[in-house]
Amino acid sequence: MGGIPVLILKEGTQRSKGRDAQSANITAARAVAAAVRTTLGPKGMDKMLVDSMGDVVITGDGATILKEMDIEHPAAKMVVEVAKTQDEEVGDGTTTAVILAGELLAKAEELFDQGVHPTVVVKGYRLAEDKSREILGSLAKDVSPEQEDILMNIATTSIKGGEDHSVKMKLAEIAVRAVKAVVDYTDGRRVDPKEIKIEKIEGGSTEDSELVLGVVIDKERANTNMPRKVKDARILLINRALEIKKTEIKSKIDITTPEQMTQFLDQEENILRETVRRIESIGANVVLCQKGIDEVAEYYLARSDILAVKNISESDMEKLARAANAKVVNDLDAASSGDLGSAGLVEEKKRAEKKFIFVSECSNPKSVTVLLHGGAKHVVESADIIFNDAVRVVGAVMEDGKYVTGGGAPEVELALRLREYAASLTGREQLAVYKFAEAIDIIPKTLAENGGLDSLDMLIRLRSQHEKDNRDAGLDVYTGSVVNMAERGIIEPLRVKIQAINSATEAASMILRIDDVIAAGREKMPEMLPGGGGY
Ligand code: ADP
Ligand code: MG
Repeated sequence: MGGIPVLILKEGTQRSKGRDAQSANITAARAVAAAVRTTLGPKGMDKMLVDSMGDVVITGDGATILKEMDIEHPAAKMVVEVAKTQDEEVGDGTTTAVILAGELLAKAEELFDQGVHPTVVVKGYRLAEDKSREILGSLAKDVSPEQEDILMNIATTSIKGGEDHSVKMKLAEIAVRAVKAVVDYTDGRRVDPKEIKIEKIEGGSTEDSELVLGVVIDKERANTNMPRKVKDARILLINRALEIKKTEIKSKIDITTPEQMTQFLDQEENILRETVRRIESIGANVVLCQKGIDEVAEYYLARSDILAVKNISESDMEKLARAANAKVVNDLDAASSGDLGSAGLVEEKKRAEKKFIFVSECSNPKSVTVLLHGGAKHVVESADIIFNDAVRVVGAVMEDGKYVTGGGAPEVELALRLREYAASLTGREQLAVYKFAEAIDIIPKTLAENGGLDSLDMLIRLRSQHEKDNRDAGLDVYTGSVVNMAERGIIEPLRVKIQAINSATEAASMILRIDDVIAAGREKMPEMLPGGGGY
C-alpha cells in the first residue's frame, strides 16, 4: 500500500503504545510506592518535608508525605490518589495501600512476561479483591463502645513508634474520649470527626494536651473591663460588625465647626449605645461577634457586664451555634431572646501564655475541643497528624464495631487463604489470584525489613504459625519474634484493611488497562508562574 502517512494528532504530541506504555506507567507508579516503603510500621522511618516557604513537617504518614511531593507523571499521580482516597475514607492505612498498589503492578508485569493478557490480570485481581473482603470479614472480631481498652489499643496502634510512650497514651486517651463524646446514636453509630475541634497550641508539651467539653476559640475578650467569666451564659451570636458604617448615618453633613463635630460624634455614640441597650434587652450576657466591635460599643458592653469577643471565624461561629444551640443573628432589630444560645460557663483562660475563650457546659454535649500542645510548631503539626489518624480509626471501629489484628497477621492469613482460593479456580485468572496473594506478602515483608529483620525468614515463620491456625500470629518488630497480636493489643479497624486492598486494586487495575498514552505537547509555561499543582 505505502503512500503518505495520515497524521491525526497535533504536532508535538507524544505517543507510546502497548508494552512500552504499560512498562513506563508501572515503573512510575512503583516509584511512588518505593518512596514511602521505608516508612511502614512502628519502626518505619520518618521523612522531613520542607516546603517552598521553608516550613518543616516531620512525619511518617504516607498520605502527608505524598501530598507534599510534587508528582508529575500521570500514572504516578494515580497512586498518589490511592493515598488520598484511603486518607479520606478511613484516615489510616495509606502507606499500606500505596505499597500494595505498587506490588500488584510489579506482579502484573511478571504475568505479562508469561504472556497473560492485561484484561485477564485485571479480572483475576478483581476476584481476589472480592475474596479478600470476605476472608478479612471472617477474621474480624467484634467490639462495643464500652470496651475502652480495645478502643485505646486501636488508637495506640495507629500512633506510630518514635513517640514518647506517655505522649502516645495521652493522645490515644483523648482521641477515645473525644470520639465517645461525639457519637451520634440516631441511626446506628455515626462519628463525624469534624465535630471534634482541634486548637493547636505552640507551647507546653504534648502531654499537656487536654479535652474540653465545649468549644474553645483562639480569641480573647474584646476589652479587659469586660467580665472574665460569665456563668449561665445567654449567648448572642452576631455576624455583623458592632460598628457604624458611614452609610448608616443618613443625612450627609458638612462639618465646619467644632460644635458640629461633637454633635456628629454624639450621634455615633448614641447609635452604639442604643445597639448595646438592644442587646441587653433581649437578655444576652455574652456577645460573640464575627466582625469588629467599635471601642465605644465595647465601653457600653463592658459597663453592662457583658462579655464580648470580636472577629471570630465563620467556622467557629458555626460550631458555637451548634454547641450553644443559638441562631446567628444579622439584624439586631429583628433578634429576640429565642435566638440566644446557652452555656453553663463562658470564660477567658490562659494556655501557654495565650488567652482563649472557653464556652463550656454547653446545651449540646456533643461539642468538644481538643487543645493540642507542642513545644514547637513542627511538634504540634505532627501531633495533629497523629491525633487525626487516631480519631479516624477509633471513629471507624465505633461505627463498624469490627477490628482485625495488625503486625502482618491478617495479611499472612489472607495470602494463605487466597492461595487456597486460587487452587479452586480454573483458567488463567487463577494465575492472577496467585500473584495477588504474593503481592499481599509485601506488607509483612516490609514490616520485617523496616524492623531490620530478614524478611523472607520472618515470612516463613509467620506462615508456619498460620498454617497451624494461629490466625493472630504477627510480627513483633521490636524483638523479631512471632507473637499473638491480639494479646499484644496491636489491632486495627477492619475498614482500614478492606479499604487499603480496595483502593490499591482499583488503582492498579486502572493503570494496567492503559495501553496507549497520548500526551499533548506541553504549552511552555511563563517562567514566573509556579508549575503544576500539589497532587
Ligand atoms: P499505614 O499508613 O499503612 O497505616 P503505618 O506506618 O502506620 O502505615 O504502619 C501500619 C502497619 O504497622 C500495620 O500493618 C500495623 O499492623 C503495623 N503495626 C503497627 N504497630 C505495630 C507493632 N507495634 N508491631 C508490629 N506491627 C505494627
Ligand atoms: Mg498507620
